[in-house]
Amino acid sequence: MIKFQKKYNKLFLNNIRKAIDDYGMIQPYDKVAVGLSGGKDSIFLLFCLKLIQLTSIKNFELIGIHIDLGFSIDPSPLKNYCIDHHIPLIIEKTNIADVVFNERKEKNPCSLCSKLRRGALARVSKKHHINKIALGHNSDDVIETLFMNVLKVGKLGTFHPNSYNHEKDISMIRPIIYIREVLIESIVDTYHLPVIKSTCPMDKKTTRQEMKNLLIQLEHVYPDAQQKILSALSNYDPKNLWKKEL
Ligand code: SF4
Repeated sequence: MIKFQKKYNKLFLNNIRKAIDDYGMIQPYDKVAVGLSGGKDSIFLLFCLKLIQLTSIKNFELIGIHIDLGFSIDPSPLKNYCIDHHIPLIIEKTNIADVVFNERKEKNPCSLCSKLRRGALARVSKKHHINKIALGHNSDDVIETLFMNVLKVGKLGTFHPNSYNHEKDISMIRPIIYIREVLIESIVDTYHLPVIKSTCPMDKKTTRQEMKNLLIQLEHVYPDAQQKILSALSNYDPKNLWKKEL
């Protein structure tokens, strides 16, 4: 069983509670599903939300959902972890990998793959009366998405800590937006959280990786760049953002 240790507060839990409170992510009686990809971020998120559930006065339900994309990975490590920690787990098989790589032969497979995965997560969640999906986007992801939007699309913005899917009537929350990827890696290693190696041919060959490298370079010159960029996202002057008349 996951056991709470006081040192977790300073190390990561206080920042997760802060994100949850800053954006009102979890309310009493919510049924929250963590989208478990098999990667480090989502298992870390599950580990943290279980600790928050154990130590919070907020009474909420916690469930794991793994959308099997069809890359023939073995989900046993996730299954065993959820059994050991009394967390219900739903595994949904899909043919998303086949659609993205064979049927559509997408030039930018990650965009369609993520869209289909989010759609599957929302569909399964609705079926099980889940009202919130928690996604494992960390603070590096926030900034990489911002850089991608600015440098590749010419658009200012990243994903919001909370979003709402009107069509499916379900909320998405991102409780680990204040946590650095390097800390997640170290916690996952230290506590032997189960990570399943991706077999996707696009893994680590994405534009996101370019943006990751860019952030590393930026931090060589401005060591607190990550913190400053994150704070700029909620500290902007709308008067000085350009709005065209026509
Ligand atoms: S790396 Fe592979 S699994 Fe991940 S979003 Fe891209 S296509 Fe999908």
